[in-house]
Amino acid sequence: MREKLVEFKNVSFRYGEEQPWVLKDCSFEIYQNEAAAIIGHNGSGKSTIAKLMNGLLFPQEGEIIINGRQLTQESIWEIRKDVGMVFQNPDNQFVGTTVQDDVAFGMENRGIERDEMVKRIDNTLKAVSMDSYRLTEPHKLSGGQKQRVAIASVLAIFPQVLILDEATAMLDPRGRRDIMKTVTNVQEERNLSLITITHDLQEVVQAERVIVMNNGEIWDEAVPREIFAKKAELREIGLDIPFIATLSDELRHAGVTITNEALS
Ligand code: ADP
Repeated sequence: MREKLVEFKNVSFRYGEEQPWVLKDCSFEIYQNEAAAIIGHNGSGKSTIAKLMNGLLFPQEGEIIINGRQLTQESIWEIRKDVGMVFQNPDNQFVGTTVQDDVAFGMENRGIERDEMVKRIDNTLKAVSMDSYRLTEPHKLSGGQKQRVAIASVLAIFPQVLILDEATAMLDPRGRRDIMKTVTNVQEERNLSLITITHDLQEVVQAERVIVMNNGEIWDEAVPREIFAKKAELREIGLDIPFIATLSDELRHAGVTITNEALS
C-alpha cells in the first residue's frame, strides 16, 4: 500500500473569531506518488488548504498530519522540509539577488552540500528552461519566467509533497503544459505527492484524483472521468468543464497521446 503523506482529519478553519468558517470539516488523504488536483470556484478555500499544509496557518479544529507528523507550532520546521510550495505570485518568494542564488537559498537552509547544490541548480534550471538566466536579477524576469524559477527553487529542495497553487497561471498554455510535464516527470521519478491547485481544468486531466471544493467543503473526490461526468452539477457550483478537457481525458483513456502542437 502507498504511504499517506498528507492527511486532513475533520479540519475547520476561519481567519479570526469574528470571521466565517472558510473550511468546514474537511477530511482527505493524499498518498505518496499520487498526483492530485484541487479545484473549486474562487473563494472556495483552496489556497487556505495549501497554507495549512505547511503551517502558514493552523486549523482551529481537526488534525493535519504530514508524512507521519502532526502539524503543531513545534513540528512546522520539520514539516516544511518535506513540503515544497509555489504560489501564484512568485514575487513574494524571491530572496536571492540572482536566479541561481535564489534556487540555492532553499537548499542552504536545509544544509545541502555545495557540490550537490551546484548540481541541483544546474539540473532544475535546465528542467524549467531557465539555465541561460542564472545570473539575471529575479525582478528583471517576466511573470512566467519568475514562475519557472520559483518552481525550480522548490524542485531543488527535493520535497516529498509538492503543492502548486496556481503556480503556472502567468505562463502561456504551451509553457504551462511544458512545465507541468517536467513537474510530472519529477513527481514520478521521486515518488512525490503532487497537489495542483488550478483554474486550468485541462491540467486536471493529468491528475489521478480530483478534489472539488465548494464553499469550504469537500464537494466530491474522484478520478477526473467521474468528476467530468458531473458537468451539470459542477456548473451549478461555478465550475465549467471545457470540452477540450473532457476530450483530452477521453483520448488519454483511449491511449492516444496529444502533442502540444495539436492543442495549441
Ligand atoms: P480559493 O483559493 O479557493 O480562491 P481562499 O482559500 O483564498 O479560496 O479563500 C477562502 C475564503 O477565505 C474566501 O472567502 C476569502 O475571502 C477568505 N480569506 C482568504 N484569505 C483571507 C484572509 N487573510 N483574511 C480573511 N479572509 C480571508
